[in-house]
Amino acid sequence: MEKRLVAKINLKTLEVDYDQNFRFRCVEECGRCCESLEIPLRDEDIEKIEELGYNAWEFVDYEKLFYRRDKFLGYGIKKNPVTEACVFLDPGTKKCKIYSHRPLACRLYPFIFVRSEGYLEVYVKEDDFCPGINHPDGLPVDRKFLLSNYGDVVREYRKKTVKETE
Ligand code: SF4
Repeated sequence: MEKRLVAKINLKTLEVDYDQNFRFRCVEECGRCCESLEIPLRDEDIEKIEELGYNAWEFVDYEKLFYRRDKFLGYGIKKNPVTEACVFLDPGTKKCKIYSHRPLACRLYPFIFVRSEGYLEVYVKEDDFCPGINHPDGLPVDRKFLLSNYGDVVREYRKKTVKETE
C-alpha cells in the first residue's frame, strides 16, 4: 500500500496546506473498505460499540494484534466467516450496522493522521479498491473538508500538543 501526503494542518493556527490535485468522495454503500481492510480497535472503540448492546467477544478478534513499532495499538475487528468482510457489514444492504458508533480507523479511512512537531499530517492510503480516491466529483482535502469531517479528531490532537508544550 502506498501512502501519500495530501494535507498538513498547523495545530496552532489551524491553517491547512493541501494538495490541490487530490480529491476524495466516499461512494456511499460501496463497502469495499469493509470487505478489504483489517481494522484495529482502541479501548474507546470497543466501549462505544458495547453501548449498542454487543459483547466484545462478538466482534473482537483477540488473535489479531496491531502494533506501531513496539507500541500495542489494539486487537482487530472480527470478520464474517462466510463473506470475509467486517462482521458489522450487512451482506444484503452493504450497510454498516454500527455506523454511528464505528471505530475511529473506519471513520478516518482512507486517511491516516500523523502528528509531527506542531502539525498534523494527513496521508491517504492509495488503495486500488477505493473508488472514492480522486473521484471526479470529489472534494479537495482542505480546511473546510478536514474540520467538518474530523474536527473532533483535530481538537484531540490540539489538546495533546498544548499539554506537551505547557
Ligand atoms: S472503499 Fe472508499 S468509497 Fe468505498 S465505502 Fe470505503 S472509503 Fe467509501
